[in-house]
Amino acid sequence: SSGARILDGIAIAASIKAEVGAEVKALAAKGIVPGLAVILVGHVPASEIYVRSKVKTCGELGIFSEMLTPPETITTEEMLALVAELNVREDIDGILIQLPLPKHVDTRRLLEAVSPDKDVDGFHPINAGRLQSGQPGLAPCTPAGILEILKRSNLPIAGQNAVVVGRSDIVGKPAAMMLLNASATVTICHSKTKDLAKITREADLLVAAIGQPGFVTAEMVKPGATLIDVGINRVTDAAEVEGFFPGDAGRVATFAKRGSVVVGDIHPAAFALSGAYTPVPGGVGALTIAMLMANTVTAAKLRRGLPVK
Ligand code: NDP
Repeated sequence: SSGARILDGIAIAASIKAEVGAEVKALAAKGIVPGLAVILVGHVPASEIYVRSKVKTCGELGIFSEMLTPPETITTEEMLALVAELNVREDIDGILIQLPLPKHVDTRRLLEAVSPDKDVDGFHPINAGRLQSGQPGLAPCTPAGILEILKRSNLPIAGQNAVVVGRSDIVGKPAAMMLLNASATVTICHSKTKDLAKITREADLLVAAIGQPGFVTAEMVKPGATLIDVGINRVTDAAEVEGFFPGDAGRVATFAKRGSVVVGDIHPAAFALSGAYTPVPGGVGALTIAMLMANTVTAAKLRRGLPVK
């Protein structure tokens, strides 16, 4: 085994949830109960699992939650009407539209219809703008989780060469903006980047948000770097699993039992060279729901003019 430090997302998420729970208690003493509405359209198994887990965590922390489950056949206009109702409801502080939506629904239009002050996913262009200009607001949960992992692990950000591979609106772009706001020197790479390995090898801090199993190999990282793996990829091929985790009895057993294992965008051989890394599962992914809970409480406070930390 290597000397690399494992950044335990599950433990960090537990501390954040405990802190959010305490804030909810303090709000309850003032007669305020933060509320989250989750819209889940149709029957997408993965989405159903995520939503159930979000609603369950609300319950654990004392946040009110309401699940709306319109049928697959709902139109964009009907969805807009649902969102408009939630926008004006006094007991709802956060509105989350679980993605992906059916193809016939205009996702962009819907995300823009959510009141920016209730946009706990941080996907509204107003919140993207607030993030870019360093104003308080609601930031996307997954990149916010990355920053929490770095800060709570006392890893330096200011002055570090940070390289983000991936430029989606949900992960890569906001992660890069948050690292820039924290004074890292940031490079954003994507599928058109030339000589990617040369750039990633310069990274003190490498964030991979690509969606390709084990894409970042050992040759692409600087020894001792901090590696943040956002990827969640399901591998169903036995040979591929063995290639990822040679001799890893635990993973082989998981694969035998479930027929698949989840791997990140960074190859384990790169983790072995790193100074610190987030494992998959149990790294960045573990933070996302905790950050959603934190955003819901932030939204409840911002809406009432209460100070947020
Ligand atoms: P997208 O597919 O939206 O974006 C992928 C990005 O990776 C794109 O910017 C793309 O470049 C870039 N990319 C793809 N192939 C290459 C390549 N060969 N070389 C360089 N760059 C490449 O994905 P997301 O950002 O939504 O998600 C990324 C990963 O993170 C996925 O595995 C996803 O499952 C996971 N994820 C995890 C979350 C969590 O932990 N809770 C939440 C959200 C996502 P280009 O723009 O040029 O196409």
